[in-house]
Amino acid sequence: MEQQLNIKGCEFLTKTTDANEIFIPEEFDEEQTMIAQTCQDFLETEVFCNLDRIDQKEEGLMRSILEKSGELGLLGISLPEEYGGFGQSFLTSMYANEVLGAGYSFSVAYSAHTGIGTLPIAYYGNQDQKDRYLPKLASGEAMAAFCLTEPGAGSDANAGKTKAVLSEDEKYYILNGQKMWITNGGFADVQVVFAKIGSDRILSALIVDGNSEGIEIKPEEAKMGIKGSSTVQIFYNDVKVPVENLLGRRGEGFRIALYTLHMGRIKLGGNVIGAAKRAITQSVNYANERKQFGTLISGFGSIKYKLAEQVIRNFANESAVYRASKNVDEAIEAYQQGGMEYGKSHMEAFVQYEAEAALLKVYGSEMLDYVVDEMVQIMGGMGFSSEMPADRAYRDSRINRIFEGTNEINRIWVADTVVKRGHKHKIDVFGQAKQVMEELEASEFKAHPSSGYFEDKAFFIDRFKKIALMIIEAASNKFGRKMAHEQEILNNLSDIVTLTYVAESTMLRIQKRESIQAQGDQNLYRDILDVLMVDVADTIRKYAMDAIYSMDSEEDEEKYRRGIQHFTDVPMVNVKAARRRIADKLIEENRYCF
Ligand SMILES: Cc1cc2nc3c(=O)[nH]c(=O)nc-3n(C[C@H](O)[C@H](O)[C@H](O)COP(=O)(O)OP(=O)(O)OC[C@H]3O[C@@H](n4cnc5c(N)ncnc54)[C@H](O)[C@@H]3O)c2cc1C
Repeated sequence: MEQQLNIKGCEFLTKTTDANEIFIPEEFDEEQTMIAQTCQDFLETEVFCNLDRIDQKEEGLMRSILEKSGELGLLGISLPEEYGGFGQSFLTSMYANEVLGAGYSFSVAYSAHTGIGTLPIAYYGNQDQKDRYLPKLASGEAMAAFCLTEPGAGSDANAGKTKAVLSEDEKYYILNGQKMWITNGGFADVQVVFAKIGSDRILSALIVDGNSEGIEIKPEEAKMGIKGSSTVQIFYNDVKVPVENLLGRRGEGFRIALYTLHMGRIKLGGNVIGAAKRAITQSVNYANERKQFGTLISGFGSIKYKLAEQVIRNFANESAVYRASKNVDEAIEAYQQGGMEYGKSHMEAFVQYEAEAALLKVYGSEMLDYVVDEMVQIMGGMGFSSEMPADRAYRDSRINRIFEGTNEINRIWVADTVVKRGHKHKIDVFGQAKQVMEELEASEFKAHPSSGYFEDKAFFIDRFKKIALMIIEAASNKFGRKMAHEQEILNNLSDIVTLTYVAESTMLRIQKRESIQAQGDQNLYRDILDVLMVDVADTIRKYAMDAIYSMDSEEDEEKYRRGIQHFTDVPMVNVKAARRRIADKLIEENRYCF
C-alpha cells in the first residue's frame, strides 16, 4: 500500500519534491478558515480574559471551558460525524490546534483531551467502545486523560509496573499501580491506562472509568509553567475494569501508546505555531511602544534582528508542519482506498511519518522557546515582570521539550528511523549514499548551475541531503549495529535531517506561494528563505564536522571535510538587510503578518 503514496516517510531525503505536490497554509479554504476563526473567537471570549483564574486553578473552571468548547464542536473536529464529530481532515484539526495553541494551559488541556486522550479510543476502540465513549468525548460531557508515565517509567515507557489481573469470574481486570504527570487527571472521566496484564512483558491499554472505586487522585502538582492545566498522580487500588474495556488486543498497549505519541508530536508542532504568532505579535507591540534614547526600540538593529528571527523560525516550522500534515491525510486516504479501516488507516499514516512527526516536535518546541526567550529580552525588565505576558509565555513554552517524548528521545527517533528504513530498503538511503561517496572520492563536485532562484536553493538543499547520507554511510561503516550507542553522532544526524526538511519545506512553500500568486510581497518571503538557507548551511556544516571528527576515521577525514565544506558553501546574501526588511514589515503591521 506504501507504493500508492506520493512520498513515503523519510523519503524526502532521497527524492526531489515538486512545489505543486505540497500543501501550504495559504491554501486553507473558506470552511477551514471559518473553523480557525471559531477557535480564535473562543480564545478571545473564554480563555484570554480568564488567564489568571485559569492559572490559579479555580475549581471547575478548566473543565467548564473545555465543556464550552465541546458545545461549539471544537472537541470533535476530526471525529467521525456518527459519533458527534465534524468528520474533518487531519489538516483541519491541525489548523484548529494551531490557533488554540495560543491558549497557554487551556491548549494543553485541549490537546490532551482531543489528542492523546480521545484518539486511542477512536482508532483502536471496537464498535461498542466507540459508541459508549466517543459521543460524550466529542460533546464535552466527558473528559479524557492518557495515563502512561509512572515514577519508574518515563522515557522508558514500557518499564511500567501497573498490573491488571483477570478476576476469577473473568469479568474484570483488577488494576493496581501508580501513574504520574497525568494531564487532565484531576477531572478526567475516561482514562486510557497502560498496564501489564498478568505476567505479560508488554503493556496493554484499558479504558478506565474515572469514577471507579479504588482510584485515588493526588493533589495537583506545583509546576514551573502551564499552571492552569491539571497534572496529577493517580493511584489504582484494586480498581475493577470490565474486560470489555480492554482497548485493542492484549499486549498491544505499547504500540497504541507509541502510535498515539507520533500523532501527539506532530500536533505539538502545530500548537507551537499559534503560541509563537501570539508571542511575536506581543513582542512587536512592545517594541513599537517602548522608547529609549529618544527613539522606539523597534528602530534598533539588535531588536530588528530578534523580531526577524522570530518570524523566520516560526514561518519555517509552519511550512514543515502543514507539508507533513497533508502527507498524513493523503496516506489515510490511500490506505482507506486500499481497504484499511478507519482506525488502522489513521495509525498507519502516523507511523509512516513518525520521523517527520518527531523532528517537527523537536524543531517546533525549540523554535517556540527561542521566540519566547527573545520576547522576554525585547521587553527588557518588563519582560521579567509577572505583570507582563512574556512571563506566562516563557514558562509555559518550556514543557514542550519534555512531554510527548523528550527532545532527546525524539532526536534519536529521527536518526534511528531514517537508518532503519534505509536498511529495510524502504528508502534508498544506502544506494544514494554510495553515489555521494563516489562523488567525494572523485573530488569532482557538480558545478552550481545558477539557473534560477529556486533551482539554486534546491541545488543546495540536495547537497544538505548528501551530507546526511554521507554521515549515515560513514557511521554505519564505522559502528555497524553499535551505532545506537553513539548518541552524540545520532543527534548530529538528526539535526541535519531536521534542518534539511524544514529548509526544503520553506523553499517549496515560498515557490508555491509565488506560483499561486498568494498575497504579500514575494520578495520578503525570499528574504526569509535567503536568511534561513545561510543559517541552515552553517549549522549543518558544524554538525556534520562534529559527527565526522567524532568517528576517528582518520584516513577519510580530509575527504569528508572537503565534501562538507563544498556542500554547505551556499551563496552569501546581505543577511542584515534581509532581516531588516522582514522586521520592518512586522513593525509596520504591528502584528504577525507572514
Ligand atoms: C506537565 C507534564 C504533563 C505530562 N502529561 C502527561 C500525560 O498526560 N500522560 C502521560 O502519560 N505522561 C505525561 N507526562 C510525562 C512525560 O511524558 C514525561 O515526563 C516524559 O516522557 C519524560 O519522562 P521522565 O520525566 O520520567 O524523564 P526521564 O525519562 O527520567 O528523562 C530524564 C532525562 O534523561 C533523558 N533520557 C532518558 N532516556 C534517555 C535515552 N534513552 N537516551 C538519551 N537520553 C535519555 C531525557 O531526555 C531527559 O533529559 C507529563 C509530564 C509533564 C511534566
